Amino acid sequence: MHEANVFPSYRGEMEYVCLGCQARYPIDELHYTCPQCKGVFLLEDARFGELEKTSGQAWRDTFDLRAATKNPALRGIFRFYELMAPVLGESDIVYLGEGNTPVTRSSAALERLVGQPMAFKNDGQNPSASFKDRGMACAFSYLRHLVAKHGWDNVLTICASTGDTSAAAALYAAYVGEPLTSVVLLPKGKVTAQQLSQPLGSGARVLEIPGVFDDCMKVVEYLADHYRVALLNSKNAWRILGQESYAFEVAQWYDWDMRGKAVFVPIGNAGNITAVMGGFLKLLRLGVIDVLPRIFGVQSEHADPVFRYYNQTVGERRYEAVKVRPSVAQAAMIGNPVSFPRVAFLADKYQALGGSFQVVQVSEQRIIESMLLANRHGHIACTQGGECLAGLLKAREQGLMDKGELAVLDATAHALKFSGFQEMYYQNSFGPEYGITPDEKLANAPRLVIGQEDKDRLSEDAFTAQAAQNVVEILGLNKR
Ligand SMILES: *Cc1c(COP(=O)(O)O)cnc(C)c1O
Ligand SMILES: [Zn+2]
Repeated sequence: MHEANVFPSYRGEMEYVCLGCQARYPIDELHYTCPQCKGVFLLEDARFGELEKTSGQAWRDTFDLRAATKNPALRGIFRFYELMAPVLGESDIVYLGEGNTPVTRSSAALERLVGQPMAFKNDGQNPSASFKDRGMACAFSYLRHLVAKHGWDNVLTICASTGDTSAAAALYAAYVGEPLTSVVLLPKGKVTAQQLSQPLGSGARVLEIPGVFDDCMKVVEYLADHYRVALLNSKNAWRILGQESYAFEVAQWYDWDMRGKAVFVPIGNAGNITAVMGGFLKLLRLGVIDVLPRIFGVQSEHADPVFRYYNQTVGERRYEAVKVRPSVAQAAMIGNPVSFPRVAFLADKYQALGGSFQVVQVSEQRIIESMLLANRHGHIACTQGGECLAGLLKAREQGLMDKGELAVLDATAHALKFSGFQEMYYQNSFGPEYGITPDEKLANAPRLVIGQEDKDRLSEDAFTAQAAQNVVEILGLNKR
């Protein structure tokens, strides 16, 4: 067998570590939060010190070699198996094509407009079209491992969602099948039509609740406290673990050299930014990278509790949930992010090791117009990707960017999932609660070149000729 296809022999000793009371628990049970204090967990490998005995260069060579693997178990996020969940067997691993998403450098024209070298990492090119697949691939692989170990015959997976978590959860549950089933809880009318179609198409049970994501989250947590269900929200530490692969891939793409780079991530429930920081910290500890990239979290004015926290003076910071207002960055429209304690914990660690972590706040107007700007230059950013570009522009205005520093922006989902917001902008149909005034010059709409009555009246050839003539007039074409 080719070396790149060989499943690793290393096995770690993973345990849950509570950020509230520091208690540790074995992983033979699915813990969602700490049974003692309800705090959030991170997963740690007690044998990580063993991995440190291998040189950074040897790890880089291993991961680079595996980039060519044809073994499905190592093709996605588990290319970084030893840093991911090195307790799983080869047959536990679910691979649906997640991870290894492209980093697309922006065109010279866009970089001139923005004034900064920049690239998008297109996490919308994951199977369910958002980064959530990274975490679900890890969580479902772990669930398969548990099911095999305990011989469970029925596992109900459940999540609250702003749209993409449910799409990903339903997809992976549908693939794995028995004994897993999937239920998703959505805020009615607060996910896009495309996002709603995804769990429906995957055959999940879709339940709706009036309100916003935070309302659904409370219901799901109540269920988890009182009933036997496997919760798949990003409080679930296995999801955070899988999402660390984003950081590993960014580092690998830039040949493990993070000098002069700033990574921008939108913050909703704060799972992703937790994972990105955690991932880079792991690479640093192993000597795979030797400097940390700067991290910028980005939040909308309409859902900005993490920004508000970091905007206070060090030493006087107090965390407070906010009541969200409608946002085009709807997947990040969360007023009480469950991973906030993880962010605080990791940001301190990040800064202690020479890294920089900052949060910028952006307007709704800027978010949607940044998305339009990016996509008019060949990107496929969702509104949250637009939020990242808005964050970069804000960071520049505040003098936070170094000259020539490369900004790597997270396009967290595919543009198509959020096309309704683009349409609202073009049609000037935003309610006042969004605080968005469209610029008519940016509007784009299809134009009918010939009517149905002409189609009915004319012969086929005459219709083609007339339609072509109309196009010539609209475009002002010259004969050759
Ligand atoms: C979930 C999601 C976010 C927010 O990520 P968190 O981990 O909740 O901070 C941003 N963008 C998209 C497209 C998402 O689906
Ligand atoms: Zn605890």
